[in-house]
Amino acid sequence: MSSRRQFISAAAALVGSAGLLAGCNKKEEAISSGSNSQEKIHWKLVTSWPANFPGLGTSANRIAELITQLSGGRLTVKVFAAGELVGALEVFDAVSAGIAQMGHSGAYYWKGKSRAAQFFSSVPFGLTAQEMNAWLYYGDGMALWEEVYKPFGLIPNAGGNSGTQMGGWFNKEINSVADFKGLKMRMPGLGGEVIQRLGAIPVNLPGGEIFSALQSGAIDATEWVGPYNDLAFGLYKAAKNYYAPGWHEPGTVMECMINEKAFNALPADLQAIVKGAIRMVNHDMLAEFTMRNQKALHDLAKQHGVKVKLFPEEVMRELKRVSDAVLDEEAAKDPLTAKVWASQKAFRDAVTPWTDMAEGAIIRARSL
Ligand code: CA
Repeated sequence: MSSRRQFISAAAALVGSAGLLAGCNKKEEAISSGSNSQEKIHWKLVTSWPANFPGLGTSANRIAELITQLSGGRLTVKVFAAGELVGALEVFDAVSAGIAQMGHSGAYYWKGKSRAAQFFSSVPFGLTAQEMNAWLYYGDGMALWEEVYKPFGLIPNAGGNSGTQMGGWFNKEINSVADFKGLKMRMPGLGGEVIQRLGAIPVNLPGGEIFSALQSGAIDATEWVGPYNDLAFGLYKAAKNYYAPGWHEPGTVMECMINEKAFNALPADLQAIVKGAIRMVNHDMLAEFTMRNQKALHDLAKQHGVKVKLFPEEVMRELKRVSDAVLDEEAAKDPLTAKVWASQKAFRDAVTPWTDMAEGAIIRARSL
């Protein structure tokens, strides 16, 4: 039996139609040219990241490649970096309008569309990556996210997770809550609101402007992502105090949204491929960040003289107290946001004893 014939037999068995194909050359040709011989479909995926941006942009590329490969080229996806087709902050509108069929971004950018959106990226003292996936896939998270995006004709998906981020780079030590007074720190979103209540001056700067602002003293501190991306940005050249943990982003979800009409027009197998590829990359990004972050953290401390420290307990306690207040106030501003936060908060409270007994206990035991 030729290898081609073996392949066709295997493929036929897989689709459960071996009987129809037995001994029939014409049918063989039919299956070899694609049993679903409809036209090829071409999709666009717009992102909020610079081209091939480490971890984030590369994960968007991976989603596109997987869909193209798994579909045998029946559905091809072309990735556009920020600014190539639409701007970084136009991804939501572009996919909603069908200018692109997919978008890779972060839900915290869309607070202006729906206040609830930011609860699907990461919130201060919120869920870790593992916990977030649990809430999304096996709790109420995904259904709530779908409810939030439905009015925009969008289907949301978790399309990656950076894991726990770092607390940021500071040009002076943080020894008490008082050290936040007057501190100019790049920290967008709800985290910025929290440090403002501690007397800091939160500044929102795009990634490309952070390094020069920190080096010139225009800002005193900045958060960015974690060791891998922070090392690549050279932030250690501008400040030496590197604090953990990223209390403001304990497990940041990247999203991969799909235009609902385009998705519904796909046959069921391509729909499964699209969803499956995104879910695969959601987990893959976390694995990549975990590997690259540990190496970069080591290099920052050993090769670049960075002082890696934990925020003092007093500081963490106050950040947590203020964060809870900020989140409750934010959620109370509209009913859907309140519903989302109530669900996420209830799960956070319920899962904490388990995470502490599982990952927490084994991590503590490693240093005995
Ligand atoms: Ca960040």
